[in-house]
Amino acid sequence: MSMQRREFLKAAGAASAAAAVPGCATMGGASGKVVVVGAGYGGATAAKYIRMWSEGGIDVTVVEPNPEFISCPLSNLVIGGSKTLADITVSHENLTRRHGVKLVKDTATAIDPDKRVVKLSGGGELPYDRLILSPGVDFMWDKVPSLNNAAAQERILHAWKAGAQTVALRNQLTAMPDGGVFVISIPVAPYRCPPGPYERACQVAWYFKRAKPKSKVLILDGNGDVTSKGPLFKKAWAEEYKGLVEYRPNYVLTDVDVTTRTAKFEVQDPVKADVLNVVPPQRAGAIARAAGVVTANDRWCDVDFLTFESVKVKNIHVLGDAIQIGTGMPKSGHMANQHAKVCAAAVVALLAGQPPNPMPVLTNTCYSFITDKDVVHVCSVHQYDREKKTVLPVPGSGGVSTAMNELEGRYAFNWAKNIWADALA
Ligand SMILES: Cc1cc2nc3c(=O)[nH]c(=O)nc-3n(C[C@H](O)[C@H](O)[C@H](O)COP(=O)(O)OP(=O)(O)OC[C@H]3O[C@@H](n4cnc5c(N)ncnc54)[C@H](O)[C@@H]3O)c2cc1C
Repeated sequence: MSMQRREFLKAAGAASAAAAVPGCATMGGASGKVVVVGAGYGGATAAKYIRMWSEGGIDVTVVEPNPEFISCPLSNLVIGGSKTLADITVSHENLTRRHGVKLVKDTATAIDPDKRVVKLSGGGELPYDRLILSPGVDFMWDKVPSLNNAAAQERILHAWKAGAQTVALRNQLTAMPDGGVFVISIPVAPYRCPPGPYERACQVAWYFKRAKPKSKVLILDGNGDVTSKGPLFKKAWAEEYKGLVEYRPNYVLTDVDVTTRTAKFEVQDPVKADVLNVVPPQRAGAIARAAGVVTANDRWCDVDFLTFESVKVKNIHVLGDAIQIGTGMPKSGHMANQHAKVCAAAVVALLAGQPPNPMPVLTNTCYSFITDKDVVHVCSVHQYDREKKTVLPVPGSGGVSTAMNELEGRYAFNWAKNIWADALA
């Protein structure tokens, strides 16, 4: 094991690389060209690990339009006001400086799977032997027709991709008079980060409790019940945020009135908000569609879980939120990081003429902030099942907090630092 990798593994902590790919060592002799689309949780991790595990033998180019990585995990704390955008922003530069990844600031617009070429919006083209797509999600605006234009999207925010929208939602909350109502609309699962909307409700309530105690948080959930850590969130709303938070299930959004900030539903009466936050239904990022790898419900990409290669298009791998998940697998940053390591090991093996690891294991931990420092978690372990050819939760593994606590708050901040270092340092 090289010195660089040993030091790196020490830093990786919670996002343990060794646990993700047991027995994976660096593999000299692997060569070829890999293009990665997206330098988020999945793409950045895959790019770095392919460089490390091929000992620099594989040429890796990442396409990403954003100048910096801004983390969705912890972004709800920016909305609550206990953190700033700078606290959750990390540079991409170590990918290039330390790992020799080529970074192209551009957007991939089309893929030619026969010629194995990625086309860029700037007119350039990148040839590949293996292509890795980790584009995250795009929003299904056709399901919220009045938001299907840029002007409306500036007024009714999603803040479900961290960055300008995160700050804009924070600004709407600080501008809201005391006594106002913050409404968050949650789409029917699956969507990015199952506990994320409930964590956001807690962070807004944390802010209101201190700064605007006559105000209210109204959670209008398209699902029949809280989709993750239900008892823990409900306890927090009943105790820590008594009188501040109301939860209503089965509120499937059909549209909004942008001017009056009114949410409309399949069954229930419309609800008017002072600040309306719509988390729209989601599907794999557009480039997945352009590549022809969207295969499940016209939304997600089925992959072979041994390699994360598309089941439909050869030599194209898909990671992160864009995939059709296995049973019990959340759409999370931690999971995208784990997909990336299994995929990176497989791509290095394949480009060295070796078979991929036949029994990959993946882990997940999702921390949710109830206050600015009290946290709850849920975790799970997932393993490839040879017979069923999918990834299944390992029976008896995993667990959930018994109650919110400050110690897990410290773990959660360290989880974030570790996974950012794992992907980008
Ligand atoms: C509020 C909130 C809280 C969350 N909290 C947690 C948490 O606590 N823990 C956790 O594990 N997860 C959490 N998540 C989920 C996590 O953010 C996602 O699961 C994770 O980002 C998925 O990684 P990804 O690589 O699929 O996508 P992303 O990290 O979104 O990366 C996609 C990248 O691809 C780029 N891209 C897209 N299309 C193109 C293109 N055509 N060309 C070039 N680049 C492109 C984008 O610019 C982006 O940088 C949270 C999410 C939200 C919204």
